[in-house]
Amino acid sequence: MVERASELWAAVDGARRHGGTVGLVPTMGYLHEGHQSLVARSAGENDLTVVSIFVNPLQFAEGEDYGTYPRDLDRDRELCAAAGAGLVFAPSTEEMYPQAPITSVAVEGLNAILEGEFRPTHFDGVTTVVAKLFSMLGPGRAYFGEKDYQQLAIIRRMAADLSLPVEVVGCPTFRESDGLAMSSRNVYLSSDERPAATVLWRGLQAGRDAVVGGSRNPDEVEAVMAAVLAAESKAAPEYAAVVDAASLGRPVVLEGELRLLVAARIGRARLIDNIGVDLDRL
Ligand code: AMP
Repeated sequence: MVERASELWAAVDGARRHGGTVGLVPTMGYLHEGHQSLVARSAGENDLTVVSIFVNPLQFAEGEDYGTYPRDLDRDRELCAAAGAGLVFAPSTEEMYPQAPITSVAVEGLNAILEGEFRPTHFDGVTTVVAKLFSMLGPGRAYFGEKDYQQLAIIRRMAADLSLPVEVVGCPTFRESDGLAMSSRNVYLSSDERPAATVLWRGLQAGRDAVVGGSRNPDEVEAVMAAVLAAESKAAPEYAAVVDAASLGRPVVLEGELRLLVAARIGRARLIDNIGVDLDRL
């Protein structure tokens, strides 16, 4: 494990010098099988896989769960090794931000919709820390989960706009057997809230069924998903949206590749989920 940014470059230098490729999997730790699937994918495609574990204060707003975000570095290191990671980079906050940054990376527009409406400063924190990680390590590929679909789209756009020499690889969402997307934040759910948390998956399925059943009206599909969320008394829905999968824009008429996204609070947990529907491949 490496904790210092200054040691990171040297730690991967050996692999790089011999023509090897370096894959990066950025995480906030408290890893689960979803994270491990990214690590395994990277390990299969690169000579060295680095997993960063850093709970990034910049992407949390006042009143969010920065202070209580679950942490277990020892277990994370075992899960990383088991999935094929060669190195864990786990810097302290002081190491990442020796001085309060006055430079930030913002993917304008994409950072303000969907999640951005509820967490207006979140994505600028994400893009800033991911840009820093890319600079510190210089990975050839970086792996992100479709679980955070908007984040994946934003990072792809950042890499394109800034001509970053890194391939951004999106990986499918890992789910529990009842459909709940794996998330470090699922630990916040009490035993009676846990069954209610499948409402996000149920809402997405209902939305997909509506599209597959022939609906081409975004209002109608969103209403179907919203109704499922509203019927779960333990859930406080935040949004249910259908967007174009590439631009994240809201279509007038549904066509091509779409993404359905939902967010809801259940008890202490704020959960998000999404699925794809490709109308060209039905
Ligand atoms: P996090 O630690 O939650 O910031 O997530 C780190 C990376 O793992 C992000 O790229 C996430 O999208 C991805 N990830 C989180 N949960 C899952 C999941 N259930 N399936 C696949 N990838 C995931």
